[in-house]
Amino acid sequence: MAKSTFEYVKNFEQDDTLLPNSWIVVRLDGKCFHKFSEDHNFTKPNDARGLKLMNYSAYAVLSEFNDLLMAYGQSDEYSFIFKKNSTLYKRRAAKLLTTINSKFTSSYVFYWNKFFDEEPLKYPPAFDGRIVLYPSEENLIDYMKWRQADVHINNLYNTTFWTLVLQGNLSPAQAEKRLCGTVSADKNEILFKEFNINYNNEPEMFKKGTLLLRKTLSNEALNKSISVIVDVHSDMLKDTFWKEHSNLLTKTKQYLNYEGPVTDIL
Ligand code: ATP
Ligand code: ATP
Ligand code: MG
Ligand code: MG
Ligand code: MG
Ligand code: MG
Repeated sequence: MAKSTFEYVKNFEQDDTLLPNSWIVVRLDGKCFHKFSEDHNFTKPNDARGLKLMNYSAYAVLSEFNDLLMAYGQSDEYSFIFKKNSTLYKRRAAKLLTTINSKFTSSYVFYWNKFFDEEPLKYPPAFDGRIVLYPSEENLIDYMKWRQADVHINNLYNTTFWTLVLQGNLSPAQAEKRLCGTVSADKNEILFKEFNINYNNEPEMFKKGTLLLRKTLSNEALNKSISVIVDVHSDMLKDTFWKEHSNLLTKTKQYLNYEGPVTDIL
């Protein structure tokens, strides 16, 4: 197309190319989900429908972008990890962040009814997003550990808090006061001694969050290998996890598109 006299305005656009050879992490987080979860009657402290909808929306993102190695979600947040040498959108930050965010957000709305069949969506939710670059394997692994440690701390607190409120008949203020200054062992003891709840037996998805990763399976009937996305609730704080999944960070090959249903995620 011929250039117009107006085209010079394009020069005002700023370059936002991301540093090469580093893992691109996109983290999204629900805007005001404290209120959103109340407005939509989420079960406290963990609504499994809400978490599964987050997982399914992340699955929709992962299925579309082959350069994503994995994604990790908990509460109202999801982190997407691009392979180190990705050249998607020429590594332009705004392109990457906005495309991932809008695909995730529209999927959250699009698939709402699949998980919240009896709870109408009252208004359109929003997610914020950021990009962080990690230059070394150690930094990236520590990032994943940081997010999972966050679930652990929050979930133990929230589980004890809501048990004190819902089963112990304390007011939220009283429960907060009761937990002030307690360490993990104290919370485990409150749950066990007063409510006969063994925290270890709480669902793994609540305690560990969800890691979506790609697995190559050989399909003998079709005589070829297929790539699937699976959800796991592994303990990433253990170094054995990273030894067992050492290929997770280094995979560079193109994944075959897999179009079948992934029942685990549903
Ligand atoms: P901000 O806009 O700053 O992120 P926020 O209200 O979303 O504010 P967060 O720190 O992101 O604050 O916390 C998210 C909150 O959403 C949690 O504290 C919890 O109350 C609620 N929430 C998210 N997912 C669930 C879920 N599956 N079940 C129950 N509550 C949830
Ligand atoms: P990219 O992902 O790079 O933006 P694109 O296919 O969206 O690729 P654009 O340059 O943004 O490319 O062009 C958008 C295209 O979408 C148009 O060329 C046109 O074909 C189609 N399109 C968008 N809106 C309409 C509309 N209202 N009616 C008909 N076609 C439309
Ligand atoms: Mg936030
Ligand atoms: Mg939030
Ligand atoms: Mg959050
Ligand atoms: Mg377009």
